[in-house]
Amino acid sequence: MNFENIISECKKCNGIGVIIKKDGSLLDCDCSKRVDYLKRSVNAGIPKIYWKLKKDDYDFFDTIGGKKVVNTSKQRAFKEIMEYIQDFKKNISSGKNIYIWCSQPGRKAGTTLLLTYILRYALKKNMTVLFSPFSFLRGAANDKSYNDATWTEHRKQLIDTDILCLDGVSVFKTEGFAAKERIIEVTDARSYLQKPTLYASYAHPNKYIEMFGPIASSSLSEHNTKFIEIIVKDDNYAEKRVSMNVLVGLLKKLRSQGNIDVSMSDLENIFRS
Ligand SMILES: [Zn+2]
Repeated sequence: MNFENIISECKKCNGIGVIIKKDGSLLDCDCSKRVDYLKRSVNAGIPKIYWKLKKDDYDFFDTIGGKKVVNTSKQRAFKEIMEYIQDFKKNISSGKNIYIWCSQPGRKAGTTLLLTYILRYALKKNMTVLFSPFSFLRGAANDKSYNDATWTEHRKQLIDTDILCLDGVSVFKTEGFAAKERIIEVTDARSYLQKPTLYASYAHPNKYIEMFGPIASSSLSEHNTKFIEIIVKDDNYAEKRVSMNVLVGLLKKLRSQGNIDVSMSDLENIFRS
């Protein structure tokens, strides 16, 4: 991806990326700071659709009977995320996780958008960030051709990053023991190192803990995690439900053909876009 024209077209610094001050010292121009931020967003894996979304873009409303009604759980979730950002330093140094969930697949809860506000703030604070679709991590952790050396490298990235965001977390039964072991190894190591992991999930935390066992409950305990639930009341759901059934059918078909890497959230993303 090429961002260089942001610098070359900048009138403030005449396209050189730095400003020469009166005393002769150099200062990075805003344009080069912007390019640096965008490059780091790409490296962090944050989907491009989120790069420009502002706080005002978060939708607090449900449509009920054709009317827009404020959803208090979305309001509360937004407030909790903003509080996390306000107390950023303390939350990061203490490794405070966020587990935000909406157990109604297909409804627009904005869980990912809320977490990207934190990720983008962290990038501006020069921290390292990694956005990982859960289905991708699950696929990688479960891939038998993914040998130990490859996994070790991937695991190192997941553990080393200051903030890890797991998007589209779902409970799965199809994979073997190895995938769960590999995933829990990552979240457990992060918890031990007091590094925050942010989860955007379709599963109630109890279901998640049930799936991963006792280690998950300590790496996702009450005292180190902010739990936030969103309940969507939008009545467009009835309409969407039909489409969800189609998606579930499609998912079953893909699974039966051996495509275990595709998740419900992947299909939903395709369906929504
Ligand atoms: Zn400039």
